[in-house]
Formats: sequence, structure tokens, C-alpha cells
Amino acid sequence: MKTQDDFAGMSLDPRLLKAVTDLGFTKPTPVQMTAIPAGLAGDDVLGCAATGSGKTAAFMLPILQRIIDMPRGATRALVLVPTRELAAQVEEHTRELAQHTKITTAAIYGGVAMGPQVNAFKRGVDILVATPGRLLDHFGRDHGGLESVEVLVLDEADRMLDMGFLPEIRKIIRHLPTRARQTFFFSATMPPAIVKLAGEMLKNPARIEVERKQAPAAGVLQAFYPVSQTAKVPLLVELLKRGEVGNAIVFTRTKHRANRVAQKLERSGVNVARIHGNRSQKQREEALSGFKAGRYQVLVATDILARGIDVEALEHVVNFDVPASPEDYIHRVGRTGRAELTGDAYTFVTPEDRALVQAIERKVGTTIERRKLADFDYSSSTAEPLEVPLEERLAKMRAERAEARRRSAEKAERRAQSGAPTGGGRGRGRGGPHGTGRARPGGAARGGPARSRGGSGPSGSSRSGGSGHGGGRAGGGGRSGSQGSGGSGSGRG
Ligand code: AMP
Repeated sequence: MKTQDDFAGMSLDPRLLKAVTDLGFTKPTPVQMTAIPAGLAGDDVLGCAATGSGKTAAFMLPILQRIIDMPRGATRALVLVPTRELAAQVEEHTRELAQHTKITTAAIYGGVAMGPQVNAFKRGVDILVATPGRLLDHFGRDHGGLESVEVLVLDEADRMLDMGFLPEIRKIIRHLPTRARQTFFFSATMPPAIVKLAGEMLKNPARIEVERKQAPAAGVLQAFYPVSQTAKVPLLVELLKRGEVGNAIVFTRTKHRANRVAQKLERSGVNVARIHGNRSQKQREEALSGFKAGRYQVLVATDILARGIDVEALEHVVNFDVPASPEDYIHRVGRTGRAELTGDAYTFVTPEDRALVQAIERKVGTTIERRKLADFDYSSSTAEPLEVPLEERLAKMRAERAEARRRSAEKAERRAQSGAPTGGGRGRGRGGPHGTGRARPGGAARGGPARSRGGSGPSGSSRSGGSGHGGGRAGGGGRSGSQGSGGSGSGRG
């Protein structure tokens, strides 16, 4: 396969070359060396590329070159990405690459007002970067003009499938013109479902597998800190205090733990922000921009951030909890060391994590260094636990349900005595005409934030006006406004 190891030799338009130089890219990354020549030749591309490999420019430069001299006012390229954060990031990178051209771009994702996005459709911006859910919402409103699309990109396809976006993706493809188009398909992993989808979508693609062995980007220093569950917070505080951890994204297993860890760090005087699926888009944006601008030293996050977030010169990733799978570990660690910027990845491991630790080491193909912080009291512990034990939480929920049932029985009895028809108390949560959200005790809408569809799916659960699935914000529920209809859940947009 043709590769090209310098940008100047790629016959890129001078306006694009200038942008590449302005961005300080001196040499193409391995994925760019292969994908750009193939893309420029009009071939489909199937890329198995790790996070931070420079894949955005790898597909975007050929796209920009293809459309640079076409008349403006029609959408020629559509990039589908799994999360809002990635949509915003890819769009930003596209603008940087297109800075010396007249090419226009827009990001389409949920959790923000539809208006400006509607305008983008109407204006016919050249390149749309979209999450599938919100894009389908626009189709539903019938102002989407994608009849001129000739390039389609699936970015982080495995992630999109993991998130259950396959039906949406198929639906979107059906909306696109059927004539020949060029497709770029990127995925960090290639499980069978991805291979099948790629087989359906691509014609004789150039295959790029720069990192056969999955490993975090080169330059990332990895270390495990063996520690007990209760000493994790004191250890983190101490690492921050001693400057062993600089600016860092700290990953926790659950939203609840993210909140508690952030709270505890705050109490210890650390400037900290939180980002997870229960936070509104505005809160997430504020947290991320504050972190990028250096207002916060630490960003505590759940996995929502693990892919797609690009923080330049991020010093550390701290896995406060061991990621649930070796793949997640690679992606989290991939937050640092992007495109050759080095950064460290520290993981707190407890004795219960043994099996996972072994699986991670098998995946990265090396033994990861164990570190012990000198003069740290490993028997120290947080005063209160990070989590209410599951048993207790379940007991509380059962008690609440019993109470709700008792009240509803009382009400029914009162009604029966007064001769009024019984109502049942299931009214709340059904929302507007499309709503499918069932009321739960307390009126909370269905669809836990972790998989909240944000009104996107073919089930049409909560387009504007529907209240059911659209939740996923703090507390998850009962909202019936049309505002966040494009997906206010955990970044599914
Ligand atoms: P991506 O994998 O597309 O998310 O890119 C990761 C990061 O690498 C982004 O911050 C890019 O700006 C940066 N990058 C992409 N290509 C290059 C290159 N050839 N040289 C240096 N940095 C790059």
C-alpha cells in the first residue's frame, strides 16, 4: 500500500499544507501516512487506529482536498461520532485544518438548542460532524439536506455499536444518496459486528492497522499503585500535594463515586470539576473548558470522557478505579500521550482487582510497574465510605416503593369511598405525543443516564415534547421539555 512520510509529498492543496504547518505538524503520524494517500486517491479506508493516532486529520485532509474547490452551500461530507465531546472536538480540528479555505463546518449533537443546528442544515454547511441521535431528530423535522453528501465517516465505530447506535446508523445511511460515495471507517477495535458492518459499507478499502497490538500511545508512562479501597482518596490527595500528579483526569467507576471523590478532593483544597452523564451539557462544557484553561487542576470523570477528549499536554490520567476491561484501560490511558505528547497513567489497584490487572497486562503486552509512595500511611482511610453499600441502597429503594404502594392504596380506597373512579397514579412521565417514558415511583423517567437515548432511537421515544427517555440529567427524570430532545443522556447525543 502506498505510504507517504511527509506532508509536502502528499500533493495536498497549499491552503491545507499551510494549516498543517500552522498546527505544528511536522511529520504525518503512521495512520496519516497510509490513510491520506488512499483517501486522496478516492479509496474507501478501514482504519484500526488507537486513540491519539491522528486519525481525524487522516480522514479530514482528504475530505477537505476533495471539496475545496466545489461550490459552497451543500453538505458534502458527514462524520458520525459517538459522543458530543468527540463531535465538538472533531469539528474544532476540522476548522483548524480548513482555516485557510472557505469550507464551513458544524457540529450536530444533543443537549443543546436545535435552532443554530437547524440553521447549519439550511445554510448547507460543507461538513457536518454529528452524533447519530441528534442527526435523526433533525431528519424527523425534515429540514436536513444531505442529498449532496459524497463522503461518509464513521469514527469510533466500535464505540457507536457499544452504545447501541447500530439501528440509527443504518437509518442514517438510508437517508444518504445511493450513488457512489467514499467511506472512511475508523474503529479502535475490530470485533465481529464491526467487521460485518465494515464489510457492508466499504468497497475494497485500504486497510490500516498501525497498531496491531493494542497499546496506549508511545510515551505514556504507566504505573500501578497498589492500595486499599479506603486509602484511595488519601493517596490521591497526597500525590497531588507532593506534585507527583499535576493536572489530571481522574476516572471513577460510577457517577456516584465521581461525585464523592470530587467532593473529598474539594474539601482537601484541590481545584476540581466533575463531568459525567448526570451533568447537563452546560455543566460538562464548563468543567471541560475550565480544566483546559487551567482553572481546575483535576477533572473527575466517568467513562463518558474516556474517548474523544483531547486535552493538550495532559500530565496525568489517574484510574481511581481499575477500568472494567482492558480495552477501556487502553482508551483511558490514551487520554495522555496523544500524538507524542508524553503523560503518565497511574492506576490504583486493590487486591480484588487482581484478575483485571492481569488481563490489562496481557493486553498491553508488558508488566506494568508497581509503585509505592514513600512515607505515605497506607493504613489511612477516608472517614466515610465513597459509596452507600448496594444492600443499603436496595433496601432504601424497596422501602420507598412500599411507601408509594401504601399511599396509592390509601388514595384508591378514599376514592372508592367517595364514589370517584380510580385513577391509578401512572400519569406522570408520559409526556408529549411521542413520549414512552413510564412513570416510576417518584415520577422519575425511564432510562438511566448510563444508556439514556435522549430521544434519538428509532423507537422515537422522546422527540420534542416526549419526556420518557430524554432524561439522563441530574436525577434523571420527569422533564418533559422539548429543549434537550436531541439527547441529554450520557453523551449519546
Ligand atoms: P486524533 O487521533 O485525531 O484525535 O488526534 C490526536 C491529536 O494529535 C490531536 O490533538 C491532533 O492535533 C494531533 N495530531 C494529529 N496529527 C498530528 C501530527 N501529524 N503531528 C502532531 N500532532 C498531530
